[in-house]
Amino acid sequence: MCGIVGAVASRNIVPVLVEGLRRLEYRGYDSCGVAVNRNGLERARSTTRVADLAAQVETDHLDGLTGIAHTRWATHGAPSTDNAHPHFSRDEIAVVHNGIIENYEELRTELKAAGYVFTSQTDTEVIAHLVHHLYKGDLLAAVKQAIARFSGAYAIAVFTKSEPHRVVGARFGSPLVAGLGNGENFLA
Ligand code: GLU
Repeated sequence: MCGIVGAVASRNIVPVLVEGLRRLEYRGYDSCGVAVNRNGLERARSTTRVADLAAQVETDHLDGLTGIAHTRWATHGAPSTDNAHPHFSRDEIAVVHNGIIENYEELRTELKAAGYVFTSQTDTEVIAHLVHHLYKGDLLAAVKQAIARFSGAYAIAVFTKSEPHRVVGARFGSPLVAGLGNGENFLA
């Protein structure tokens, strides 16, 4: 289990997300990534160090007011770019996750039958698709319904392109802290 960071602000949040990952590096990780909400979902992912991700983010001019980031310690699926978080569902929902969704195989079968296409070997990707499947205009409601289906220990941060200034966090068995600032809020 490694680290997640989430942020909503009225300034470019990418440097804060990357700094958050730097501070989580000591925990060890095999890959890392960051996603923002800017005219839709955009992300950068790396199987090297946070410093390389930071360079990639600069080159791609990734910026946004809302975002999530992750350092991964793989439990399901090799440490590859496709398995690195954030995971997306249909370019509408973005998720980072620490921990393990123990019943992911059952959920994956159900979601595949509902037409979702999986692009990773992770347990995490079921979270993105399940939230997408349940989303009816209120991200908090969809995440609440989704976590009722999970067994395992997890901390997650989720956002959707449809609600550009919102990140929803949830945890069970794993720690998650919320930082309330002036006009900007954080999760880690
Ligand atoms: N189980 C997830 C994965 O393998 C999350 C691992 C973690 O906590 O970093 O991608």
